[in-house]
Amino acid sequence: MSKPLSSFESPRFAQPATFMRLPHQPDLAGADVAIVGVPFDGGTSYRTGSRMGPREIRQQSSLIRTYNHALRIAPFDRLNAVDAGDIDAPPVGIEKAYAAIEAGIARILDRGAIPLAVGGDHSISLPILRAVAKQHGPVSLVQFDSHIDTWPEYFGGRHYHGSPFYWAVEERLVDPRRFVQVGIRGSMYGADDFAFHERHGITVVGIDRVKDEGIARTVEAIRAVATGPTYVSFDIDAIDPAFAPGTGTPEVGGLTSYEAQHLLRGLAGLPIIGADVVEVSPQLDGPGQITAILAANLLFELLCVIAAGKMNTEGTRKEHGMNTETPR
Ligand code: MN
Ligand code: MN
Repeated sequence: MSKPLSSFESPRFAQPATFMRLPHQPDLAGADVAIVGVPFDGGTSYRTGSRMGPREIRQQSSLIRTYNHALRIAPFDRLNAVDAGDIDAPPVGIEKAYAAIEAGIARILDRGAIPLAVGGDHSISLPILRAVAKQHGPVSLVQFDSHIDTWPEYFGGRHYHGSPFYWAVEERLVDPRRFVQVGIRGSMYGADDFAFHERHGITVVGIDRVKDEGIARTVEAIRAVATGPTYVSFDIDAIDPAFAPGTGTPEVGGLTSYEAQHLLRGLAGLPIIGADVVEVSPQLDGPGQITAILAANLLFELLCVIAAGKMNTEGTRKEHGMNTETPR
């Protein structure tokens, strides 16, 4: 079993940083979950910098401990998780980057591991979903974001961080009726921005509904849509810039970090077949690297949710002493 370095033997600030202090293991031997950096931000339309996300999130994830008290789960006892290193996506030419990212994720899936990707900008989710759909068929998608990211193009280019889910639906990587977007807000381009959603039956849980109805009912709304093999894509700008300033396209009036943690915990038990956390730009971050710390914590919640999903297929959650109540 690959375990994080113990902070009782090696202080948290010692040794080269890896995700959650896990062994750096690009060969993926025995891995159930591969936490993999995808340092590519060539799809950014506004302020750049998320290519530096994986490095900073590795640093800040040194503070992650080994037990999730809210879910009553010790993910590193249940899963062989490793830091798989980074996918070397070329910084010039998005089509070439996409080919490298798809191949890097396919390699993880071929070894039977679940990819937990750390961006990078949101454009990386398309090549990840291409690899995932090759193994699982059209998947269910839970997208946390302030932006819809279902625009078809920008400046005549198809691929950028505002278009991954347009193409994921068009390429049938995602089943649009099992696709839910959470936290959507901000100024839009026009009234027809949601025509694509209406045409395909995509569900939107906008920020007003989250705030009005609360966490438990939002979780219910997500779980009513997300069925079967599910991919979770977490754009850090879903969270209010007061909590997550280190991102390229911030939108005010968003989720709190507390709400984000609880919404993710609410996914426990779903069969998660891949996930990402994207759009962290360290050089835009606030004092104390608060955005990177938040991203590291959301990765931990996702890892615990993945562990819960795997346990679900191996036995009931109760048998494993898990909290079976929907988080309030
Ligand atoms: Mn996005
Ligand atoms: Mn966004």
